[in-house]
Amino acid sequence: MDLKKILRTNIQNLVPYSSARDEFQGEASVFLDANENSFGSPLATAYNRYPDPLQLAVKKKISEIKGVPPQNIFLGNGSDEAIDILIRAFCRPGIDNIILLPPTYGMYEVSANINDVAVKKVPLTAGYQLNLEGIAEAIDENTKLIFICSPNNPTANSIYREDIETVLANFPGLVIIDEAYINYSRQKTFIRELTEYNNLVILQTLSKAWGLAGLRVGMAFASEEIIEVFNKVKPPYNINEASQQLALNALQNVDQVNEWIRETVAERDRLGTALLDLHCVREIFPSDANFLLVKTTDAKGIYQFLVERGIIVRDRSNVILCEDSLRITIGTPNENTLLLGALKSFPH
Ligand SMILES: *Cc1c(COP(=O)(O)O)cnc(C)c1O
Repeated sequence: MDLKKILRTNIQNLVPYSSARDEFQGEASVFLDANENSFGSPLATAYNRYPDPLQLAVKKKISEIKGVPPQNIFLGNGSDEAIDILIRAFCRPGIDNIILLPPTYGMYEVSANINDVAVKKVPLTAGYQLNLEGIAEAIDENTKLIFICSPNNPTANSIYREDIETVLANFPGLVIIDEAYINYSRQKTFIRELTEYNNLVILQTLSKAWGLAGLRVGMAFASEEIIEVFNKVKPPYNINEASQQLALNALQNVDQVNEWIRETVAERDRLGTALLDLHCVREIFPSDANFLLVKTTDAKGIYQFLVERGIIVRDRSNVILCEDSLRITIGTPNENTLLLGALKSFPH
């Protein structure tokens, strides 16, 4: 893949914003270059200074955990920012298109729509795997990106590795693998494949297993060339100082996170087995994520019944290939028990 061929010309030629922090890096004692309030902030922690635009401290820690050099990492205000930047940097509005594989995460399509970029949909097979022939047929000379979510939201399964590699090896645009749920998966991350495929972008996030959805920190891993595109296009201070500091603290607690992952996976098994015994449950789809896709006898009725008992799940029954299905996040053992108790009393 030749990145220059797929990148928009205006982005190729873009002179990015140069902040005070970009122009002077080094030791100094008096900073009068960024029009900050030199006196401080009305908070116990000082936030009067602009944050590191490239978040190097956080990236170094992520680099240690993931085994990826910092220059191959982009941090976004959630994965959603990474998704938006990919579409904006590579797709010409009204001309280019992206390929999506529904049922899948909704933000890819919303982001494409916001940017006036056409979406070509190639639904997954009945077994929630890639339709490789359909994808090959959908690709045209203006197809820039293919989004593959694995483990997939809302179907919970992982996409076959060989199929993803087939797409990576044959598509001359970018293949984005969204691994938001990779920590819960039996499958391995594609991060080790970054050196093999220069058209690969991997998305991960601190919002799920890391328990930091409120901080808004998403990660993209890719070639240095692609990361440079992200850095050119992103707002200069896209990760605020509080999020950078808190993310850095949280990243010291890998053991706690791994313990929660083990508990979540154990609860996923327990909840799945127990749900199958209920008369209102038809099928539990295999899950590599922290949620279950559950085919029921009456998705809308059960959804409403649970709402009345203060339990909120996600009704996915209007989504293609998810007829009658609810998406249920794995809760704490107590929450899962409450859910099971409520569902047991759903009338025949
Ligand atoms: C939850 C989720 C994300 C996370 O998005 P953030 O913006 O990082 O919170 C990304 N992709 C998928 C498929 C998700 O389900």
